[in-house]
Amino acid sequence: MQKQIPVYESVLTGNEKKYVLECLETGWISSLGKFVTSFEEKFSSYCGTKHGVSVANGTVALQLALIALGIKRGDEVIIPDLTFVATANSVSYTGAKPVLADSEPDTWNIDPSKIKQKITKNTKAIMLVHMFGHPCNMNPIMELAEDHDLFVIEDAAEAHGAEYKGKKTGSFGHISCFSFYGNKTITTGEGGMCLTNDEKLANEMRFLKDHGMSSEKRYWHTKIGFNLRMTNIQAAIGLAQLEQIDRFIDAKRKNAQLYNTLLKDTQGITLPPEMPWAKNIYWMYSVLVNAPFKRDELMASLKKEGIETRPFFYPMHQLPIYKEEKSYPVADKLSATGVNLPSAPNLKKEDVQTICEAIKAHKA
Ligand SMILES: *Cc1c(COP(=O)(O)O)cnc(C)c1O
Repeated sequence: MQKQIPVYESVLTGNEKKYVLECLETGWISSLGKFVTSFEEKFSSYCGTKHGVSVANGTVALQLALIALGIKRGDEVIIPDLTFVATANSVSYTGAKPVLADSEPDTWNIDPSKIKQKITKNTKAIMLVHMFGHPCNMNPIMELAEDHDLFVIEDAAEAHGAEYKGKKTGSFGHISCFSFYGNKTITTGEGGMCLTNDEKLANEMRFLKDHGMSSEKRYWHTKIGFNLRMTNIQAAIGLAQLEQIDRFIDAKRKNAQLYNTLLKDTQGITLPPEMPWAKNIYWMYSVLVNAPFKRDELMASLKKEGIETRPFFYPMHQLPIYKEEKSYPVADKLSATGVNLPSAPNLKKEDVQTICEAIKAHKA
């Protein structure tokens, strides 16, 4: 059978097995244990923040951040129209309304000038997303937030280790949220983390994620909390992954450079952005497919060659759950033409060559 090239796969060849075995052998398999604290400390320090609060997945990380900031029914949170649905859903869970803003054509991220147009007296926060590993244009967003007294929450689920002007994504907002799902840059299987420099917010999130129990008085609950805890086994895997993160990002960036070299000047193909102020980690190496080609036909022809790809997300305003008749032209265009190419950290140079040859051989 022909070799398959997956769009992503996790690489678990470091200390993952050793650390997980340690959990099994010592009996520390639930949410207490040294790997949880160690992973929290090391990941937050890697991103340049003071506090890390681990949780069960990236979606509840977003939800916990919003609730800790006091977002509730009647509030509005501005999010990009083009994102994974978890961003919008996390806002809906709190009873607040996700308000959509269009993307910028040159970063594929939320457009600061479009955010401004959506601010009302009910706006409480901006939840931005660093899409596919490219950072948002942070300075104008932080200025807007300051001027209008808004919280900033970074959905950095796709951007572990990415940088804006030399500073890591996840270190800008009041709270930032990461996912460690199986296809993310580092993984714990399922898992997530909230980062913050604000000790009060960190304590509030620790309190809320553990049933809202008083830290002084056991079984004394002063708010309706949740169980969002990460297990020591997940954290063991996360810690081993974190030991390899620089290597993963290096490999992804090298593959992206090779993709760029081989695909530049290819008819109908637009390469992914990397602004002069940005370090893109290429969680997904993504291109836009324009005339004379059709994105779905290119995907089908790559599939025949054993190359797995993924289309971009649908913009939120097209989904039945967040339907708006209004158009968001940049998000619509990106969504209709964007495709993620294989991007795993262990993707071989020869595989990138095979993929680029298949793209170039595709006929309209
Ligand atoms: C993956 C992802 C999430 C959700 O993470 P889970 O761990 O799957 O819950 C949220 N936002 C974005 C942008 C993502 O890519």
